[in-house]
Amino acid sequence: MDIRDNLDRVLGSIRRACRQAGRPEDAASLVAVTKSWSPEAIRPVLDAGHRLYGENRVQEAQGKWPKLKALHPDIRVHLIGHLQTNKTADAVALFDAIETVDRPKLAAAIAREQERQGRQVDCFIQVNTGEEPQKSGIAPAETASFVRHCRSLGLAVTGLMCIPPADQEPTPHFAFLAKLARDRELHHLSMGMSADYAAAIEQGATYVRLGTAIFGPRNAPRAPESG
Ligand SMILES: *Cc1c(COP(=O)(O)O)cnc(C)c1O
Repeated sequence: MDIRDNLDRVLGSIRRACRQAGRPEDAASLVAVTKSWSPEAIRPVLDAGHRLYGENRVQEAQGKWPKLKALHPDIRVHLIGHLQTNKTADAVALFDAIETVDRPKLAAAIAREQERQGRQVDCFIQVNTGEEPQKSGIAPAETASFVRHCRSLGLAVTGLMCIPPADQEPTPHFAFLAKLARDRELHHLSMGMSADYAAAIEQGATYVRLGTAIFGPRNAPRAPESG
């Protein structure tokens, strides 16, 4: 499987999905999810000029992205996995966006670290749209007050993120997240993975997070939120 071909195909179908939804072709950006992949595996995507990546674990990201960012300063990396509060300093130092802000204690830790490091990262609030007990994310009913709380702490909250329940039709979850974002005047929606990104774009995704569609199956599969 040729990774460069996969990338081109995926970028083409993202543009097509945008057009079909009556949105500008570039309305949805690709977050290439590189968890479990080595810098060598990522190379064809970097060489193609792609600059937006996603990782789900702080430590793994620390092992590859600082070196690659030194070579390509325009690289942006989003944290898309659960963030333990004790890793907040590392996360604020490394990532350009944290897509998984999901609890007051973490919001406070990010605010503290931003202050201490003199650095600001974009924040997405992760919403547990399926209200699954085992899944991270703020409850839908608490989203509005949590967004206000995060902003009062100085967090740059730019959007919402969700991971719909694996066993359900994702479209209603995407539509629901889009409505929550509209109500809060949040411009970004991170939703849609390899299996369902066209549906997410139709519902207004501005970021889709794709790993398998570009790199193929991960050898040692990890739960989406292993941190
Ligand atoms: C791994 C992961 C993805 C990418 O999943 P694929 O099915 O490989 O496209 C997207 N979002 C999150 C939060 C993930 O952990």
